[in-house]
Amino acid sequence: VDAEIIAVGSELLTPFRLDTNSLYLTGKLNALGIEVRFKTVVGDDRLRLKEVFQAALERSDLVILTGGLGPTEDDVNREVAAEVLGRPLVEVQEIRRRLEERFARIGRTMAGNNLRQAQVPEGAEWLDNTKGTAPGLWLEHDGVRIILLPGPPHELEAMFESVCLPRLERLSDGQRLRTRIYKVVGLPESEVDQRIAPATTQSTNPATTVLAVSGAIEVHLRARAATHQEADALLAGLGDKIEAALGDHVFSTHGESLEEVVGMYLVMKQKTVAVAESCTGGLVSERLTRVPGSSSFFLGGAVCYSDELKTRLAAVSAALIEANGAVSKPVAQAMAEGIREWTGASIGVGITGIAGPGGGTADKPVGLVYVSIADDRGTQVREFRFPGDRERIRTWASVAALELIRRRVRT
Ligand code: ATP
Ligand code: MG
Repeated sequence: VDAEIIAVGSELLTPFRLDTNSLYLTGKLNALGIEVRFKTVVGDDRLRLKEVFQAALERSDLVILTGGLGPTEDDVNREVAAEVLGRPLVEVQEIRRRLEERFARIGRTMAGNNLRQAQVPEGAEWLDNTKGTAPGLWLEHDGVRIILLPGPPHELEAMFESVCLPRLERLSDGQRLRTRIYKVVGLPESEVDQRIAPATTQSTNPATTVLAVSGAIEVHLRARAATHQEADALLAGLGDKIEAALGDHVFSTHGESLEEVVGMYLVMKQKTVAVAESCTGGLVSERLTRVPGSSSFFLGGAVCYSDELKTRLAAVSAALIEANGAVSKPVAQAMAEGIREWTGASIGVGITGIAGPGGGTADKPVGLVYVSIADDRGTQVREFRFPGDRERIRTWASVAALELIRRRVRT
């Protein structure tokens, strides 16, 4: 079954609102073994919507439209569907009755416009909207299934889950699709690609995608089979080869974030951590505290941006800063040791670097970052030269710090 999604709404064509409904729908459809082959975003525009809808009917088995079901003039999906399918709009008494009831309940009279929502293309089934007023629609036309869903994500999700999923399950020709995500840190994307290529290029099922996601590389596997168990077996087969190729650079195989994995190890080893951050401005602390239960392993830390605060909050001697510069190995090291000492954490982390765009010099360029980790086994410091803009450098630096902690507590 090939599916296609059409997200309707002029606001989705502005820089301010993203079509997230199709991401939700794609996830749900994939889990049923239904592939999404096309998706389109189109404004509240009859003519253009008509074109897109017509094309979809010719090439897809399942067409889902989202949005444009409300009562206002710019909500045109019902009318466009009726027109393209050559079916008249007919009023459904039951929808009208419910609308009138709803308005009576809140003590308001219904504007005539609202009755538009009771009009459906002839032969369509309407789908109850438990979270709003606009009902959804289900149509079958020349072997194509067409679903119209409301735009507000919580309405769409509730309706899809309760009514559409059970129906689509019957339709997915017994195919099941399962996915697995390997998250990798410490290797560039090209190297990940190269290492796994011998295994993945021979495999079409599972299919593989490699993508960079905020400082990590993700390898996504998608397997299809008659049952979930068979699909899982296919994933395990290729997955073992991928794990062997990437070794301990793989930090997650079930969707966990790096900070979650770090938190898990810290809890397991009963260790605590404290952080002294300069160029990351608190990012590492922010990420660690995203993890539920972080109070059991994260003590806190300091954002010590100025030299003076490095001295006052992390006990970095002014002379050390004077002699080496604030962005240097010895200062990162002293920050890690200082914050550990001050907080009594089992592990101290220090981060200092130049995030740019200004402040770089020939021997200390933008992107130079030192990350240090101190515990009872000693202090380690690493130098990084990250490419990219300020945002990327700060993200990479926070990933590097979390990765250093992971490696320290893993064994
Ligand atoms: P309503 O009865 O609320 O008018 P509707 O079905 O007409 O529902 P729209 O008017 O298109 O839906 O959108 C309603 C809200 O849902 C808007 O805030 C819109 O930004 C949001 N929305 C619409 N489509 C999407 C989408 N594809 N992804 C995320 N949000 C969306
Ligand atoms: Mg609307």
